Amino acid sequence: MPTALIIGASRGIGHELARQYRADGWRVIATARQAHDLAQLTQLGAEAHALDVTDAEAIAGLAWKLDDERIDAAWLVAGLYGPRTDGFPTQDDFDAVMHTNVLAAMRLLPIVAPLVAGTRGKLGVLSSRMGSIGARNGTTGSLYRASKAALNSVLRDTALTFGPQGATCIAFHPGWVQTDMGGASAAISVEDSVRDLRATLARATLDANGTFLNHDGDPIAW
Ligand code: NDP
Repeated sequence: MPTALIIGASRGIGHELARQYRADGWRVIATARQAHDLAQLTQLGAEAHALDVTDAEAIAGLAWKLDDERIDAAWLVAGLYGPRTDGFPTQDDFDAVMHTNVLAAMRLLPIVAPLVAGTRGKLGVLSSRMGSIGARNGTTGSLYRASKAALNSVLRDTALTFGPQGATCIAFHPGWVQTDMGGASAAISVEDSVRDLRATLARATLDANGTFLNHDGDPIAW
């Protein structure tokens, strides 16, 4: 039975990833930060671990728990949009968005990628087209955009380090998805986005290591 690890599975895209992998008979290890979300994940049949991705000690605890795991598919999903208004960012907004979307990835990916390399597996991070510099045609959400551009840089470093060890590491845009973050008028359902994300990750080979892909597999400019 293959094993999936999903970091940030309380709701939205992460929760749907956990649900679909379980429905397909995978073993699922999933994280959330609230007790009631952990209980829901356990009810789904997942092995649930508490994790706030901004908590360095909690990350060290997770690393210890995952020590000899072999992960076939890992997803770093937890993310924060931050302020819905643009302009002078407060220190608190900057820290919250950058710590959740960037610092957490810098800490978690070096822990997760070796577990994936051990199975010659795949690792996806939930980036966003809004983080693309090459394809940028708007400026709303500039703090979020900057954080996802930085996340893409972290993903490229991860791919350079762990690709040669066998891990296929990819940054994904999930589409504009109907979740709390995307809102009810978003373009696609969470079920369809996650079905695409899983299929695209499943068919990716090491040639795709270090790429930035739309949920359907189309490449996106960095
Ligand atoms: P949601 O806002 O619906 O869910 C966000 C998830 O991130 C929740 O599970 C939340 O947990 C978790 N999270 C946030 N901060 C932390 C933290 N400090 N520690 C642990 N978990 C945390 O977002 P989506 O499901 O829509 O988005 C998932 C990912 O996809 C994000 O990275 C997002 O940037 C990206 N994305 C989404 C798009 C969309 O249209 N929806 C478009 C492009 C990218 P909790 O419930 O505890 O708050």
